[in-house]
Amino acid sequence: MVYISTRNNSLKVNSAKAIVNGISKDGGLFVPEKLPNISLTDLNGLTNMSYIDRASFILSKFLTDFTNEEILECVSRAYSKGKFSSDDIAEVVKLDNDRFVLELWHGPTCAFKDMALQLLPHLLTTSMKKEVGGKNVKILVATSGDTGKAALEGFKDVDGTSILVFYPEDGVSDMQKFQMITQDGKNVDVCSIKGNFDDAQNGVKKIFTDKELGEQLNKNNVLLSSANSINWGRLVPQIVYYFSAYCDMLKNGHVCEGELVNIVVPTGNFGNILAAYYAKKMGLPVKKFICASNSNNVLTDFINTGKYNKNRKFYSTISPSMDILISSNLERLLFDLYNGNDEQICDLYSKLTNGGSFEVSEEVKIKLKDDFYGGFCDDINTKETIKNVFDKYKYLIDPHTAVAFNVYDQYLDQTKDGTKTIIASTASPYKFAKDVLRSIGKSADENIFEQVDKLAKITKTEIPKPILDLNSKEVRFKKVISKNSMRTYVLDNTFCEKIRG
Ligand SMILES: *Cc1c(COP(=O)(O)O)cnc(C)c1O
Repeated sequence: MVYISTRNNSLKVNSAKAIVNGISKDGGLFVPEKLPNISLTDLNGLTNMSYIDRASFILSKFLTDFTNEEILECVSRAYSKGKFSSDDIAEVVKLDNDRFVLELWHGPTCAFKDMALQLLPHLLTTSMKKEVGGKNVKILVATSGDTGKAALEGFKDVDGTSILVFYPEDGVSDMQKFQMITQDGKNVDVCSIKGNFDDAQNGVKKIFTDKELGEQLNKNNVLLSSANSINWGRLVPQIVYYFSAYCDMLKNGHVCEGELVNIVVPTGNFGNILAAYYAKKMGLPVKKFICASNSNNVLTDFINTGKYNKNRKFYSTISPSMDILISSNLERLLFDLYNGNDEQICDLYSKLTNGGSFEVSEEVKIKLKDDFYGGFCDDINTKETIKNVFDKYKYLIDPHTAVAFNVYDQYLDQTKDGTKTIIASTASPYKFAKDVLRSIGKSADENIFEQVDKLAKITKTEIPKPILDLNSKEVRFKKVISKNSMRTYVLDNTFCEKIRG
């Protein structure tokens, strides 16, 4: 399989190179030149396999420069026993005859990013052996919460890697901060920045483009890399769970062979829902994708009008992982809808860079509406949805998942579509205990562990083990630095690592 850039379709690389480079030099994203096919016979075969075998099968179609042994090794390390609390890895829960929930949060950080970030480090180190043998990789992350912790857990103690996470001192939730500063592992570091998320992200971006720093690190055999969601190595693991969910539904008699389903995804950077779209193009029987946004509803407007406009108010919501105005992975969808026309993509994205907006062609607008329904939900309705879903099903959901439930109900109201539907659930409600408590009409203590205990008592649901274990962990990382010292910090600490061996 060959990968091309969305901004230069004659630039061709293999999957290892796409994963090592992350982003293409021309600013585009790597996409497969042609998607592989998964037939209904393949689907039947997958139905009787474990999650690890299903993942190996799907990955082998994309990573054709990896051996089967390499793929199995990567996948086994990512989804081995003990890392995920459910043997199914990504469990499908039936709420009623046509409403199913795909729980993507049984990993070590209780958010769906684990599904990809547990696997990415192994795909990356295997790719590095092929492309730049002998080098160590240093992962730099700027985080507003979920990604940092999920990347730390994914990379901890992975040979040949080290990871450094920068977070804004006052820009992450108490739970997210505590999850990060108590992180264990011998190759991890966490540092807070006096500033906001943009300061942290700009600092990291500057370091990535700093040629002199890059050369210095290179001399010491260190290559900088990122773990952000535009890397192909983060997208491909996400395709797997949509196939896996359908197989589970087949196995349990919830769908017949070939029966169409809808998929609802709470969306920010467009990675998760794009993976579902790719699954459909590969042969998964899907009718409609329901793209659910919070008050940052740039995608809702885009799907409904064909105009993408990031010049709008930014809202900080109770579903913070979807507080995004530039959905990076949308570029991959557009490339597909424009039939791989790289010039069109360059044109759209130079408009986005220069004026903050673009509009797609009439033909693309029609295609977009064929596959996608877009809707959004504000904080008040998100809270109401958490309460309604709990009252109706005794099923507790987090604010991100609640956005998806709410938009799905809007879709049902408008369309009366009785198709069986999979709703992607992206975080454990215990990660957002304070807002979940308030949603169901309870007060919340300031202490995160009090919140978690209270939520468990009131709802009679189980506290996920990673959150329970957090209580006894020691704080390891206390350093706060100014935003101008990030470069120095990277240099100093990288060389310490080298001296330490
Ligand atoms: C990252 C995240 C999302 C958004 O996923 P995208 O792939 O960026 O669209 C939704 N919910 C949670 C809990 C997340 O962490």
